Amino acid sequence: MATKALLIVNARYLDPALNLCTGNILIKNGIIEKISPDPICIDRDHACINADKLIASPGLINAHTHLPMVLFRGLGDGYPLDQWLHKVIFPMEAQLTPEDVYAASMLAIAESIHAGCTCLADMYFFVEEIARAVDVSGIRAALSLGLVAMNGEKGLQDAEAFYKTYHQSSNSRISVHLAPHAIYTCPREYLKEIVTLSTYLDSKIHIHINETKKEIDDHFATYHQHPIETMHEIGLFERPVLAAHCVHLSDHEIKLLSEAKNFLLVHNPSSNMKLASGIAPIAKYHEKKIPLALGTDGAASNNNLNIFLELRLASLLANVSQMDAGTLSSKDMFRMASSNPGRFLGPEKLGIIEEKAPADVILIDLDESHCLPHHNILSNLLYAVKGSEVDTMIVNGQVIMKNKVICSFDETEIKRNFLRISQKFKPV
Ligand SMILES: [Zn+2]
Repeated sequence: MATKALLIVNARYLDPALNLCTGNILIKNGIIEKISPDPICIDRDHACINADKLIASPGLINAHTHLPMVLFRGLGDGYPLDQWLHKVIFPMEAQLTPEDVYAASMLAIAESIHAGCTCLADMYFFVEEIARAVDVSGIRAALSLGLVAMNGEKGLQDAEAFYKTYHQSSNSRISVHLAPHAIYTCPREYLKEIVTLSTYLDSKIHIHINETKKEIDDHFATYHQHPIETMHEIGLFERPVLAAHCVHLSDHEIKLLSEAKNFLLVHNPSSNMKLASGIAPIAKYHEKKIPLALGTDGAASNNNLNIFLELRLASLLANVSQMDAGTLSSKDMFRMASSNPGRFLGPEKLGIIEEKAPADVILIDLDESHCLPHHNILSNLLYAVKGSEVDTMIVNGQVIMKNKVICSFDETEIKRNFLRISQKFKPV
């Protein structure tokens, strides 16, 4: 992919160690070609952004979401997970059409872009429509077709076909994972088939694990072991696994995850609080060196797609749940939204600002009153920023938002279409 060069001049940027440096950043062919404190020359017809009033940060990564669920935002508040799913979500999902999924995905991506998210990991259905939205929008995504046992062989065939068609598509911005929804919807034998398919395709796996106490108790009553012990037995952790939630883990389960070959635990603080699922003890997981990331989950259980807000909540919750204000450092926390998921999702160096890294960069305007002074930029990004300060977004070397206006699609039209479609989904 040959593109024009883009030069960001006079940027204060976060280096791979998350220290604040100043320099000029040259972007070419989708990657960060050069970073230098000295002037960099480019041809006159190449683009240049003066960033002297902006902070350049790695684009944030939302490592677990269900984009089309923005259609259900505000519906079904007040239920715990099992009732929320069966009384509210599943009946509405049964009405969804491919057109609805595309319209909702575009809206969700617009929301994500405004909040600084350059890359996300999604699990849903009508996934071809989500891939189309990702392609049009210019963001990066790991997409997956959510599988439940009732899909049977047809589900596996559809997931394989989706993988073969879309993995590494759209200039490699789209990757594809296999997504068994959870062990309570994909019992042992079906999950085993998915692991076999993942080995055959060499694909990664995206799954929900141990979100609520109820699902763990139900599993124990049937199998006389904890869910992660069953998953371990059937070889799930021989594969690269991205697991959302992991709210309630036994010490043995934590040990198994810490020994997994390539594992990413995605913390979803807002969703876990909203559905009263609990608080994942991430300080304990961090101590055991389990790689951590952050996700919003779907907008129906959050109710937004804003990783800056998840960063703030995750930091505060980690402190208060341990009654210790220094359980994870600011850098540890910020890595949960950048280099940790970047390392799992790829390509190499995703989630950092460094030469040869993918050019996924956001420029943030920290000149607003609530972001002053700049004694500690990382602290401002964790605790003070709301997401709306993101001014410019570059993904794979392409500018997809500038001066807070999305350039890759017409957001006004997307909102209009989305509101029209949303009319058919009524509160229960
Ligand atoms: Zn989820």
